[in-house]
Amino acid sequence: MKKQTKAIRTQAKKSQNREHSVPLYLTSSFAFESAEQGKALFEESEEGNIYSRFSNPNVSEFVDKVCMLENAEDGIATGTGMAAVFASMAGLLKSGDHLVACRALFGSAHQIITQILSKWGITHTYVDATATEAEWEAAIQPNTGRPVARMVYLETPSNPGLELVDLAMLGRLKEKYGFILNVDNCFATPILQTPIDFGADLSIHSATKFMDGQGRVLGGIVVGRADLIQPIRFFARHTGPSLSPFNAWVLSKSLETLDLRMERHCRNAQQLAEALEAHEDVARVLYPFLPSHPQFELAKAQMSAGGAIITIELEGGFERIKAFFDALEIATLSSNLGDSRTIVTNPNTTTHAKLKPDEKAALGITPGLVRISVGLEAIDDLISDFTQAVEKSADALKEQV
Ligand SMILES: *Cc1c(COP(=O)(O)O)cnc(C)c1O
Repeated sequence: MKKQTKAIRTQAKKSQNREHSVPLYLTSSFAFESAEQGKALFEESEEGNIYSRFSNPNVSEFVDKVCMLENAEDGIATGTGMAAVFASMAGLLKSGDHLVACRALFGSAHQIITQILSKWGITHTYVDATATEAEWEAAIQPNTGRPVARMVYLETPSNPGLELVDLAMLGRLKEKYGFILNVDNCFATPILQTPIDFGADLSIHSATKFMDGQGRVLGGIVVGRADLIQPIRFFARHTGPSLSPFNAWVLSKSLETLDLRMERHCRNAQQLAEALEAHEDVARVLYPFLPSHPQFELAKAQMSAGGAIITIELEGGFERIKAFFDALEIATLSSNLGDSRTIVTNPNTTTHAKLKPDEKAALGITPGLVRISVGLEAIDDLISDFTQAVEKSADALKEQV
């Protein structure tokens, strides 16, 4: 069976009511049929649910589907994407370990690495997404006497710069040095890119984004090698970042349409990117599947489409951004992404406002940068909305001069 069929047909076991749609298992605990069964479940000689902090049928269904989509052996779901990122690090790293990470990271991942793991003696080195193989290798195995990196953590494409990391290259380095290759696959989704096929050991998602796809619930998941998921599960079971059964139920249903939605997201984004690139009042458009993207060839090699996120550069600083956002009639101003509704953000004043000027420069975050999370609306409506707002905001600035 194809993945699309399995994403629709994988379901929790039917109850005696023979329901067609999976019910919500809103229960904190599960009853034991006998003293022996309670004992067997805790000894793990019998498999089954005990308590929803450990497992729950709705959560297991969601995990099974994501493992299937990502070609992963095992997985664990969490209440948010950040809980998944943190569990993957806290469950596997110990004091004295070194983490090599791509510089272009989701803001909270950067805070975990620099402010939290550092308290426990886990050190880090940042590498540019577009660094060469030799530069990555030097960070992983330096000549300074520190141990080889225990984990390499990265996002591709990155937020908001849409830089790509060469997954096959890091897969090769992993074979040589034996670190854990941990990839945040949130922007691409398993529909466009499966890092495990390139040698990644773990793939992480903020399910809040495209997996939900309609801006309703928070959730996260980490899937990958069974022997690595085991210590992450131990960490999560005892520290409690569990995904709620309700959110799991919503997310699992959403996976039935992920393939369909990503197809439309990507088609809309491609067409909008092409239209904006052709417009004289837009200074720059970045989209992985535009030939003008500096890593277009790599994008085509590791992704099946360009994704839903476009960034554009408008001249005129924050004044221009204000006029542009005021003029948009369809797109929402919000810091979220991965929604059926198109969303625009100015990273410089919102999601990335707290970064220092040199950090912003390294990530390409300029005052005129706009991140567009392209939704599922009719593409003609989106192109005309963005075009009129680009023109109106350009005219407004000319009048001021
Ligand atoms: C949103 C996001 C996260 C964090 O996920 P939450 O569900 O908000 O905790 C992590 N990584 C990336 C790439 C994201 O976009």
